Amino acid sequence: MTQEPRFSQAIDSPTVAAEAHWHGFTQMASYQPLAIERAEGCWLHTTDGRKLFDGVSSLWCNVHGHNHPVINEAIVDQLHRVAHVTSLGMSAATTDRLAERLVDISPGDLSHVFFSCDGSSAVEAALKMAFQYWQQCDDPQPQKNSFLALSQAYHGDTTGAVSLGGIKYFHQLFAPILFSPIRGPRPCTYRLPDTIDAEQACDFYAGEIETLLQEHHQSLAALVMEPLVQGAAGMITHPVGLLQKIRQLCDQYNVLLICDEVATGFGRTGKLFACEHESVTPDILCLGKGLTGGYLPMAATLARPHLYEAFLGELSELKQFFHGHTFGGNPLAAAAALASIDLIEQDGLVDAADAKATRLRSRIADQVADHANVGSIRGRGLMIGIELVADRDTKQPFDSADAIGHQVCQAAIDRGVWIRPLSDVVIVMPPLVASDQELDDLADVVAQSIEAVLGKPSVASKT
Ligand SMILES: *Cc1c(COP(=O)(O)O)cnc(C)c1O
Repeated sequence: MTQEPRFSQAIDSPTVAAEAHWHGFTQMASYQPLAIERAEGCWLHTTDGRKLFDGVSSLWCNVHGHNHPVINEAIVDQLHRVAHVTSLGMSAATTDRLAERLVDISPGDLSHVFFSCDGSSAVEAALKMAFQYWQQCDDPQPQKNSFLALSQAYHGDTTGAVSLGGIKYFHQLFAPILFSPIRGPRPCTYRLPDTIDAEQACDFYAGEIETLLQEHHQSLAALVMEPLVQGAAGMITHPVGLLQKIRQLCDQYNVLLICDEVATGFGRTGKLFACEHESVTPDILCLGKGLTGGYLPMAATLARPHLYEAFLGELSELKQFFHGHTFGGNPLAAAAALASIDLIEQDGLVDAADAKATRLRSRIADQVADHANVGSIRGRGLMIGIELVADRDTKQPFDSADAIGHQVCQAAIDRGVWIRPLSDVVIVMPPLVASDQELDDLADVVAQSIEAVLGKPSVASKT
């Protein structure tokens, strides 16, 4: 079926630990130092002489591969003009151009762009924008000061974003210092309630959301969601049509819709923005990760005219948005973003994403879809999750102490592919520029790594 992976390389010498560096979401006591010296295209070169395929796009943000001459040049060119200008009361010309560009390419009538530095901050800005909007819009409703978020949502790691988040490990520990949103369903197409079949899923989840809106709309500023795919929850994939239904419900109940496309934006799902799949324009759109092609930290919060206009007034009215970051709208990042958006268009990356996704996904499925421990292969576009389960009939998870997902990803790293799991969901999310050959090799290594940990496919449970 598959040959030896062409990626594998011997490890020459262990890297010297850079002990001063404390890593996020990493147990430092058992951290195996892995440092990148340089990178080219989809390949990372480690300080100990290994070459690893970047199978998760450097945590979901890389679009065009690394060290791309066009993006490099755009940054250097900007560097020779000015490296940083504040966005508080002034601007850099490059950043203004990017704002205009984002308005052009984003869905519907999203018309104004507020810049920050990371996805979490884009979400924080959205929350405060929605809150302040209801205080001072034409028909003020200051009691609208809470939020509806989905179960197992992920919106970042700052305190407000974690409050919205519903992933147990990230949320529970910090519960005493968080605010509590109204919690909606987890619109999962893999683990549906027993009485609901796939055709009923969309109406079922929309019904649950409508019940919450009926009860709470008077106190709700906004519904916040990741459209189509809840990435950090393990690529939970929503029923088709749900986003459009939620848009209608938000209109009906006068609740703002905030879509967090930090992960799904910039071509990941096969459209430039995931909202386009269902012809939806959110009131507020959060972008990050792929915005600069994954080169520099930058995020954006886009708003529609009615939002923006509620913040206009005389100086003495104090209606301005009371929020702003020192490095928001940094022009080096803006230059990278403009170059990245041009490249996405010139290289037809969004149109190509569907065929690439189908190729990668079916090559993985051909090898492991029948495996007794593969529960589901899901996601949209080049955003794929493979959920490994102890029993595929009952969907019973593995004991988390077995760290199966971690073991599979370690097996992939040994075979020259860098991937990182979310519990027992193996995430496969290569840069959009990955070639057909690279995608095939990636699929083969993922399949081999699953087999290395869990054995060859067994058809015993396929009854
Ligand atoms: C990654 C992510 C964030 C947080 O972005 P950071 O840049 O890590 O702060 C927010 N929302 C979603 C959907 C994400 O995937």
